[in-house]
Amino acid sequence: MSFTRNCFILVCLFVTFFTYAQERDKPRNGEGVHAFLRRHNRDDNQYYQKFIKLNKGKFGKKNALLSGVVYVLPPIAEDSNKPKVSNVPKVLEIPDVQDIPDEQNMPDVRNELDTLDINVSELSEEPDYVEQQPVKNKKSKAGYQPLFGQKYADYTILDNELDGACFFLSSGHGGPDCGAIAKVDGRELHEDEYAYDITLRLARNLLQHGATVYIIIQDSNDGIRDGKYLNNSRKETCMGAKIPLNQVARLQQRTDKINSLSRKSKEKYQRAVFIHLDSRSKKKQLDVFFYYQDKPENRKKSLRLAETMRRTFEDRYEKNQPGRGFSGTVSPRNLAVIRNTEPVSIFMELANMQNTFDQRRYILDNNRQALANWMTLGFIRDYRNSRP
Ligand SMILES: [Zn+2]
Repeated sequence: MSFTRNCFILVCLFVTFFTYAQERDKPRNGEGVHAFLRRHNRDDNQYYQKFIKLNKGKFGKKNALLSGVVYVLPPIAEDSNKPKVSNVPKVLEIPDVQDIPDEQNMPDVRNELDTLDINVSELSEEPDYVEQQPVKNKKSKAGYQPLFGQKYADYTILDNELDGACFFLSSGHGGPDCGAIAKVDGRELHEDEYAYDITLRLARNLLQHGATVYIIIQDSNDGIRDGKYLNNSRKETCMGAKIPLNQVARLQQRTDKINSLSRKSKEKYQRAVFIHLDSRSKKKQLDVFFYYQDKPENRKKSLRLAETMRRTFEDRYEKNQPGRGFSGTVSPRNLAVIRNTEPVSIFMELANMQNTFDQRRYILDNNRQALANWMTLGFIRDYRNSRP
């Protein structure tokens, strides 16, 4: 009797689990199947037929989505759009500790540099940077960027480590496209908001070291935001221009912007930076993925940057969480944004938004700051290595 009952409960649990595991959503106003699938990180070519099959009988004319109807999403195929990584790292035991420890308000990057016990020359076969360029006489050591929001708009220029370096920072998605979505504590967290917050923190750090920084995707309402849950908005622009809904046009807009600014910039060292989070299966804990630009004229420099970045993250983790290990990878990726961008580029995926462990990496503001600090270190090292 009790055995039968237990079985029954077990079956119920399974049924509930599988029903729950299936992702569903309602379309937005005017959204078609393709846009709907892309918004849920499902490359439409691969998922279109599955989607139509799964939702038979729920469409209007020509498979139009009906407003208010809940559609079932086909499960995301593991690593469907991942290139093969040649040196797949071993799976490491990850200790159950906070992903990146909160060091009291994350010290500014300069402090991190001071404590950095790694010799820069170990990072690259290219010659170490020995002597600094003559210091440009900066009239003021203070800077102001209203996009950072009230609390962070004022910043201090700490040194000129990145003097002569120019960065185009493009946070993923924005405007009508929120990117990946994670449901946490009953809230909907959007990729574009978290990518934007991390990008702003990175921008501020780079400015503090004397770099020239262009913030390509902007939201005049959202500065750098502390706290776990970032409100969603669709007000992001591409430096003031409305972001189109169409994916091809949307990506073209930001690469065009970067390319035109790049042609006007005098700096020899220019880097375009694309920052994303990611959405994969819930179980998959990820370390950071660094993608380099696989086109002949930029490959060498882009690969060096991605490698330097990966090593920087590895040694930061080792310092902060000895024994944790780091399995972040460097690989090429043939994405429209990096293919069409003229300056040397890097594309980073910082976490799997769906994974409970990864969530700490982006939900805690200290960790968003740590990610920005580590990226800054990576850029400083790469810039040093780039100099003759
Ligand atoms: Zn993304």
